[in-house]
Parts: sequence; structure tokens; C-alpha cells
Amino acid sequence: MRLAFGALVASLLVVPAAAGKQAALVVIDPGHDLRGNTDTEPIGPGSSERKIKDGGGTSGVVSGLREAELNLQVALRLRVLLERAGVRVVMTRTRTAGTSMGNVARARIANRAGGDLFLRIHADGSTDPAARGTHTLHPALRRGWTEDVYPDSKRAARIVQRELRAALGFPDRGLQERSDFTGFNWANVPVILVEMGFMTNPTEDRLLATTAYQRRAARGLCRGTMRYLGRSVAACG
Ligand SMILES: [Zn+2]
Repeated sequence: MRLAFGALVASLLVVPAAAGKQAALVVIDPGHDLRGNTDTEPIGPGSSERKIKDGGGTSGVVSGLREAELNLQVALRLRVLLERAGVRVVMTRTRTAGTSMGNVARARIANRAGGDLFLRIHADGSTDPAARGTHTLHPALRRGWTEDVYPDSKRAARIVQRELRAALGFPDRGLQERSDFTGFNWANVPVILVEMGFMTNPTEDRLLATTAYQRRAARGLCRGTMRYLGRSVAACG
């Protein structure tokens, strides 16, 4: 009787863990907005060093596409894929229609949501039209600002960079640590920023402007995110 009761208790204890695998939550941040924002904000909590809120992003040298719009298109596709996979999604914006809120505000959205990952989507620009490739940025280690999110951010960056690069087939520019990113220093949840490719490179711009490549980017980001969360990538397609 005693054993049977113990077994019953054990099975009851197992149920919540098995049935209630808590839904993961990802905060997707499509970089920039219709207009940049030249107001300034501290680069980290309590910092006297300030940076402008948003330089406005780049645009396609051939396509003329605005980075803010490309980021949003990929982000909206990614949201569909993640939600289909059972992941809850919070977006920092769903339209390209206003003045950029800046990076402290974006980080605060992620912090309030308590995301398992704060995924910032961008595309790069350079004065060198030959510059191309995919890279992923993550916070540098700084006591008081990022030590709580540093290890997981770095792990996420490694995994997402691999999947995004494979999905797009662009050159691999690897990972980069940044201590000067406001959106990193204010984040209290693991955070990465992907630069999908260079809109100032004619080849990558042409490709990123297509639905097919925006779909590829979303699939790669979905696969990377799911792998980071320790879940199946099957639903990402
Ligand atoms: Zn950008």
C-alpha cells in the first residue's frame, strides 16, 4: 500500500513537468523604424556616456528597400514560424510607421516580457560595396550590466549565427562582442543582434529584397532560436 501510494505521488509529480512544459517566450525586435531618432540616451544603466537613440539604419543600394522594412518583413515571418512551433512572441514593433523608440525602450520591452531571448534583427551597411556576409553580435561582459546575460547571449549568438548563415548562404563573418550597444547594456534577458547581410552590397541587397530570401532568413532564425531553446526545429520548415 505504501509503495503504491508512493508511486501515485510520483506520477502526480511527473504530470506538471510533462504536460506543462512552459511555453518559451521570444522578443523579436525589428531594428529601426520609419524615422531615426537623434535624441540621446545613456549607453547603460547609470552611465554618463550617451548615444543617439537610432541612426536610422541603412538601405538597399540596388533595391532601394529601407532596412527598417526588411527587418520587419523577416521579423513578421519569424513570428509566424515561432508561434506555429508553440513559442510565445512579443514584437517591439509591427509596422514601419513612426519615429524609432530607441534602444533603451526596446530593451525595456524585452525585460518586461521576461523573454527567453531578445532577438534583434538588422541588416548591415558599409561604405565598401564589396563588404558582405552574415554576422551576429552579442554583449561584451561588463559587471553590473551584462554578466547576468553574457553566457546565454554568447551561446545563442553562436547557435543562431550558424543557422542563419546556413539558411542564407552568405559568407560567415562570425560573432562580435560589443560593449557600446545600448540595447545590450540595458537588457536583463539574453540578447543578440543579427546582421543578416549587407544592403550596400549589390548581390546581397538583391537577394535580401526577395520574398524567397526573407523566408530563408526567417527559417534560419527560427531554427537557431529553437535550437537555443532546446526544442525541435521541425516546425521551422
Ligand atoms: Zn540596423
